[in-house]
Amino acid sequence: MSKALIAIDQSKSYRVYLTITTDLVQKASDIHETTPVATAGLGRTLTAAGLMGIMLKNEGDKLTVQFKGDGPAKQILATAYGNGNVKGYIANPYVDLPLNEKGKLDVGGSLGIGELTVIKDLGLREPYVGTIALVSGEIADDLTAYFYISEQQNSSVALGVKIERDLTVGAAGGMIIQMLPQAEEGAVDALEQLIGSMEPLTTIISRVAEHNRALSDSGLVQALMEEIFREMPAEYKPRMLDEREINWNCDCSYERLQQVLMTIGKQDLTEIIEEDGEAELQCQFCLEKYHFDREALTEILNRIN
Ligand code: ZN
Repeated sequence: MSKALIAIDQSKSYRVYLTITTDLVQKASDIHETTPVATAGLGRTLTAAGLMGIMLKNEGDKLTVQFKGDGPAKQILATAYGNGNVKGYIANPYVDLPLNEKGKLDVGGSLGIGELTVIKDLGLREPYVGTIALVSGEIADDLTAYFYISEQQNSSVALGVKIERDLTVGAAGGMIIQMLPQAEEGAVDALEQLIGSMEPLTTIISRVAEHNRALSDSGLVQALMEEIFREMPAEYKPRMLDEREINWNCDCSYERLQQVLMTIGKQDLTEIIEEDGEAELQCQFCLEKYHFDREALTEILNRIN
């Protein structure tokens, strides 16, 4: 369970969405047995999707963030709901690349040249779909560009996943700052200065965690916000509006995969029954396996008729 907070400054110039997702990213890494660069890519994407999920108005609203490229990771995808549930996967969890020229995990290189697509399902007849070309494939830059190009929203996105020597996730988190329409010039300037000189988010998370060992998870994310905005002039410091949670949760079920089998069509399903007599489907997100025997498949076939 990851605590997240939503905050706004007194002048109503900007809103902040901030979370620490160390446990969530560790869980995703455990399930998918990811290499460090895959953990970083998937972890950043899950964290961002979780923050974008809690921006949605209704609990059942859903969004999917999909990075697709010609690099060895191929695809990273995360789905998040308005209630803070999030799930995701990376097409190639075993991708392994040397560090980039900055000595960092090469998430951009793992994705290569490609596209970012965001699909928002807000319960309307048609989902909203926005696609942009990848800027760097480093996830945060791409999402900043997405917000600007597709949603005409001036935002700043910071995401981080720190991998320890023993390959566990040492720290992970994310922050999205959204400028509001009536932003004061002073706030814009102060934010630009803050973002321009900000240390990597995981460095700040590690330091805050180190100095506040006794704090609860909610206390910790509040302490993180105070630390990030420490130099901000008092009139532009953010104040907490709401506390939320972001949780890894896969909502797959036998019934849901039955529906997947129904969509493959009569002919293919008949072929599976005749040739294999059974089928095993695996959830891409949590890797849970679902087995369908001849009887179950025949029942599905009869339902299509
Ligand atoms: Zn699942």
